[in-house]
Formats: sequence, C-alpha cells, structure tokens
Amino acid sequence: MAAAHPLVIVGASYAGVQLAASARELGFEERIVIVGDEVHAPYQRPPLSKGLLTGKTSVDNLALRGPDFFAQNAIDLMLGRRATALDPGARSVRLDDGAVLDYGWLALATGARCRPFALPGSTLEGVLDLRTLDDALRIADAAGRTERACVIGGGFIGLEVASALRARGAEVTVVEAQPHLLARAFPQLMSSYVENAHRRRGVALLTGRGVRALHGAQGRVAAVELDDGTRIDCDLVVLGIGVLPNAELAQQAGIAVDNGIVVDMLGRTSAPRVLAAGDVASMALPPAPGVPARMRLESIQSANDGARALASLVVGREAPCTAVPWFWSDQFDLKLQMTGLAAPGDEVVLRGDMASDRFSVFYLRQGTLVAAHSVNKPAEHMQSRKLIGARARLGADQLADPSFDLKTVA
Ligand code: FAD
Ligand code: NAP
Repeated sequence: MAAAHPLVIVGASYAGVQLAASARELGFEERIVIVGDEVHAPYQRPPLSKGLLTGKTSVDNLALRGPDFFAQNAIDLMLGRRATALDPGARSVRLDDGAVLDYGWLALATGARCRPFALPGSTLEGVLDLRTLDDALRIADAAGRTERACVIGGGFIGLEVASALRARGAEVTVVEAQPHLLARAFPQLMSSYVENAHRRRGVALLTGRGVRALHGAQGRVAAVELDDGTRIDCDLVVLGIGVLPNAELAQQAGIAVDNGIVVDMLGRTSAPRVLAAGDVASMALPPAPGVPARMRLESIQSANDGARALASLVVGREAPCTAVPWFWSDQFDLKLQMTGLAAPGDEVVLRGDMASDRFSVFYLRQGTLVAAHSVNKPAEHMQSRKLIGARARLGADQLADPSFDLKTVA
C-alpha cells in the first residue's frame, strides 16, 4: 500500500469512523489514520442518555465497530491524542505530543462539546453534563443514589435523561429557557405533545424559565434557584443546554467557520484538501423552498451520510450528500422518529390520535411532503423518509386518513 498521500481524520466517532470505513469500501488504498482525543475505542452515544442510565444497556455493548474492524481495514487508530494545530499550506497537522502528521486529505470530524454553564454553583459536586462515555458513567453512578434531580435544558438530552431518571424512580424537574420544549426541533403541536407526555409520566416541567444560581451544602448541589426566585431542591443536576462545534482547529487555520465549519455537499471546506463532516460541519443543503442554505444537523445520520460524501470525494467518485435527514429519540415508552426539515408556515397534518401515543404529524409545503414526526409509528416514519426523498405531492386529506396506505403513493 502506498503511503504518500494519507487520509488523516481528526475525531474518532461517527463521522470519522464512517469516513474511514467508506473510503476503504470504495477502494481507497493509501494510509488512513484516525486521531481521537478520547481514550475509549469509538463508541455509540445514543445509549448514553437512554439504556446506560436505565441499566438496560451495558457499557460492554457500546462499541461502534467490532474489535477487529480497524486492524482488518488497515486503519491506524491513535486514541488519547489531540490534534492541536493545522497548517493547510504545509498539509500537516500537529498533535499534542509534538508529532506532526502530513496528509493528502485531512478530515475534521471533531464533533461538538457541551455548551459551558458558568452560573454561580456550577462547579458543585453533582452538577453534570453529558457528551461522552465518561460523562454518562458519572451520571449513571449518581442516578443510583438520586432522589430528586433537576434537568436544565428541555432538548433531547434533557428529556431523555429526565425519562431515564424518572424510570429509576427519581423525582425529576426539567427547566427550559424557551417557552416550549424541543423548540429547536419541533413546531408547537409536537412540543405540546411531548410536554403533556412527560407531565403524564410524572416529570415536572418549567418552561420559559431561566436559572439564576445553583446552591450547595458541603460542596454538593442541593438546589437550583430560578430567575424568579423559585428554589428546586435536588441532589443531582444534569445540564442539557446545547452544544458548541469543535471548530477551533479550522478557525485558527483561517478556514471559514460560521456556527460550524462551512462545507459544501461534498464536505469541502474553504481550504484545499481539508474536509469536514458531522456535528462540527455546517453543510450545504440541497436547495428547496423554505430550506436554509446550510445547517449543522446534529445527528448520527447526518454524520454518517456526510462522511460517505467525503469518502466519495477522496476516491474521485464525487457523490454529494443529498440524504433526507432523520433521527430518533427514546423517551419512556415513546419512540419519536423525525425526518425532513419542517419550517414555520408549513401545513401541519395529524394522522392518528395523540392521546394514544401512536400518530404522525406531517408537514406539507405547497403540497409537497417535507417533514414528518412520528410517535410509535415506525412504518409511517420509514414511508415518510421515502416520500420526502421523492418530493411526493400529497393531499392533507390523504395524509390525515389512517386508512390511506402511504405505500401506494407513486
Ligand atoms: P462526535 O460524536 O462529537 O465525536 C467527535 C470526536 O472528536 C470526539 O470523540 C471528540 O472528543 C473528538 N475530538 C474533538 N476535537 C479533537 C481534536 N482536536 N483532536 C482529536 N480528537 C478530537 N443522535 C441521533 O441521531 N440519535 C440519538 O438518539 C442520539 N442520542 C444522543 C445521545 C447523547 C447522550 C449524545 C451526546 C448525542 C446523541 N446524538 C444522537 C447525537 C449524536 O451522537 C451526534 O450527532 C454524533 O455523535 C456526531 O458525531 P461526530 O462524529 O460528528 O462527533
Ligand atoms: P439542544 O437540543 O440544543 O437543547 C438545549 C435546550 O436547552 C435548548 O432549548 C436551550 O434553549 C435550552 N437552554 C440553554 N441554556 C439554558 C439554561 N441556562 N436554562 C434552561 N434551558 C437552557 O441540546 P441538548 O438537548 O443539550 O443536546 C445536545 C446535543 O446532543 C444536540 O446535538 C442533540 O441533537 C444531541 N442529542 C440528540 C439526541 C437524539 O437525537 N435523540 C439525544 C440526545 C442528544 P436555547 O435554544 O434558548 O439555548
């Protein structure tokens, strides 16, 4: 195997590993190196806020790939090593131990990190955030002892953690700054449904409320004080207040960054032979009415499909990423599945009965299906993905009618 133009990948998670795997599948023969600053072999993140906290998933079942995958595919995995500087002119990347790796292609798959929370009391013991396996193990350990937890942030992290802690018998309060839960992902109908679903399952929700400070006793968190003076007593605080893209390497190298590394549909940055995918990338989207020009889609599907586009580029068979976005969330007995991109002004169509926790909400834009949010309706989710990809035109009455078979739509 030649070693003159290696593919160096920074970040050993979904995007980085998928890129290496797809490049090999497509016949890339040069050296592939993945540099990752975590010490664990690449692992799955979704169970960190779900099964790992409820005890349904064991830490031994989190590997992203089988034990032999990297060796069998001649992928050099450098774990516990951090890339600290990038020189696009010299085509090299420097690591924290002083080593310098020359590249033919460099892929930045550095993901995102938890948004910092700098209020008084945020360093008390029992105040935890969640991005990595080590974070999750700390929360799982604390979950075994907690009686009253306060979750700050009503996004997917916050709600999944709330449902896991509640399932373990803790009293749980969620505090969300926005007037609705999941405001970034959901229009109001779905937000309201999720709010009711959590309340019905015993979670206390406070929306449109800010946090002023955390208070402790003997160094441990004991209460959360809200901006109106309300005090929530608790022995555990989990933060789920969003993420920031790890885009500093690119920024310091003069590469265009705008809430993420700016890339086209092939993952090309503003620097030659430097690519990016996954949570760190603000990827161009296929042009469509009501869809933003680019977006940082923080999901596994986006990381994987973005990485596949990068792989196509490095082997000279350019296949831009045009995949329909989708992702899922498990909360209590609810499997939420989301696909497409809804926007304000879309026609909203409900199919099924929200009270039964089995329904889909569809979004039509000028008669074209653009997004669907399903709860405990996996077949409708799968069908919607196909229909959105095909830009299917449908009537609201058809979509709303549970007896109308979506599979029959041409
Ligand atoms: P990441 O997974 O963030 O990985 C980036 C890696 O790069 C990290 O290991 C980081 O430490 C490393 N790194 C950063 N900088 C450097 C550097 N300079 N040098 C070396 N290494 C570096 N998505 C879903 O679709 N469904 C879900 O159910 C779901 N559940 C989730 C649950 C949790 C608890 C979390 C945290 C996320 C969840 N997500 C889910 C989101 C999903 O995990 C992310 O979208 C996905 O991990 C993005 O992959 P990535 O490879 O881009 O980045
Ligand atoms: P998120 O979806 O951005 O939600 C965070 C929420 O917390 C936002 O509504 C935010 O409001 C709010 N918030 C911010 N600061 C706050 C404060 N001080 N007090 C109260 N609320 C506050 O992010 P997340 O839930 O933390 O998730 C992090 C990442 O993990 C995301 O990339 C997410 O997609 C991913 N994830 C995905 C899944 C899934 O797909 N199933 C599951 C878990 C995690 P503002 O918008 O006003 O800041």
